[in-house]
Amino acid sequence: MNVFFTWDYELYFGSETGTAQSCMIEPTQALLSMSKKYNIPMTFFVDCGYLLRLKELKDTFSQVRDEYDAVCRQIEDMGKAGCEVQLHIHPHWEDSYFDGNRWIMNVNRYKLADFSKEEAAEIIRSYTQILREVSGQAVEAYRAGGWCVQPFSHISEALRVNGIRLDSSVFKGGYFQSDLYAYDFRDCPSAEQWKFEEDPCVAVDRGFFTELPISVYELSPFFFWKLFILGRLKPSEHKPIGNGKPVPSPGMRKKYLTRWNSHYVSGEGYFVTRLPSALHTPHIKNLTVLGHPKACTRFSLDYLDRFFARYHTRHTFRNVSDVLK
Ligand SMILES: [Zn+2]
Repeated sequence: MNVFFTWDYELYFGSETGTAQSCMIEPTQALLSMSKKYNIPMTFFVDCGYLLRLKELKDTFSQVRDEYDAVCRQIEDMGKAGCEVQLHIHPHWEDSYFDGNRWIMNVNRYKLADFSKEEAAEIIRSYTQILREVSGQAVEAYRAGGWCVQPFSHISEALRVNGIRLDSSVFKGGYFQSDLYAYDFRDCPSAEQWKFEEDPCVAVDRGFFTELPISVYELSPFFFWKLFILGRLKPSEHKPIGNGKPVPSPGMRKKYLTRWNSHYVSGEGYFVTRLPSALHTPHIKNLTVLGHPKACTRFSLDYLDRFFARYHTRHTFRNVSDVLK
């Protein structure tokens, strides 16, 4: 089986962003040392709005300069470990700022669809450019912030002219509408990858773009009860290492605690315990795992180390751009 470990490399975007050190640097260091130890390539979708803000403000605030240097060094380390960096866009950075002490998030425009087509095109251009500059790597793949990749026709041309040929935002059955979020993947193909043109949920033969969907599994309410209870009982093991607060997702917790749900296959927190069974799903050729360094826990990092020790020679771990070769 081809296994793609993908990580969205970012701060939190709620009332507290948390620090770059705890949300990004520290957990990613642990992931990169596993990547080197077991020769596992991983793909990091880098929050490029943050990167651009850091660059713009680094000469004004010494704290921002330290963050910028640490993040740039770590992106360099990703390359050295055989990992790749790809484009992740949270466009609300356009409206967010540093107050001299901390980042103040304004998430009123949370997705690219909240900007005009021209504004979205400029965001895609400038965010892709800074990632190429900082990483020295080719940038060919995209993951939308908060999975809000629709309507894709709003951004397809800008992605195309900036060299993006692959999307990995879709997960089968995913659906969420709120003041901030909007995605609906209920009708997307069940295939493990497909070509498309203007809508990632509609396969088109020989389409320009490739969709590498995030894999899904079914999780019971019991699983989520266990997850929440463990977080309370053993916070040092099961609380996220990132010390910020997420953007609210109204209704989400209740949904998970009361019925079975499709959930994307995750490399973070207690979700890692379901990775071996995801690997053993019959007839699947690709497994695409999504996680956030900020949501990794002591428990999940220890678990992943044992997981990679066991499986690194049994499966083919790949970077997402390998799909394009
Ligand atoms: Zn994100």
